[in-house]
Amino acid sequence: MNNQPAEQPHTKKAPYRKSRQRTALLELLRSTKTHPTASWLYDRMKPVFPDLSPGTVYRNLTILAEQNLVRILRSGSTFDRFDAETGIHYHIVCERCGKVEDIDLPAGHACEEEAQRASGYEITSHRLDYFGICPDCQKPGTEI
Ligand code: ZN
Ligand code: MN
Repeated sequence: MNNQPAEQPHTKKAPYRKSRQRTALLELLRSTKTHPTASWLYDRMKPVFPDLSPGTVYRNLTILAEQNLVRILRSGSTFDRFDAETGIHYHIVCERCGKVEDIDLPAGHACEEEAQRASGYEITSHRLDYFGICPDCQKPGTEI
């Protein structure tokens, strides 16, 4: 964090640099299955882009989400996590270590029709998260 240059003013040249950062950010997110937080991504981007700020990472993630290239996994209680897998799939969260994994269960839009019939809403999306204790955290001696 030391010796960093002052943040560049927003000039006409900025979009090129920003989109290069955004491309690198998307590649980084696609390289992991851990559903990282913005700060995890920032820590890994910073050595490559020394003038990067956490706010820029967050803004780029928001833009990528608007472009449907990234999914934001919002959580009321902890930091948002991000997923480059935008196809419909479900997640399982360890309540002890906090990891978020994909769960290999059939996922699809069929339940949305059911929800629509039950509610009269026009359903636009749905999400399903499972919670539990992961196999690593179930091992003896890992109790907190
Ligand atoms: Zn765990
Ligand atoms: Mn996922």
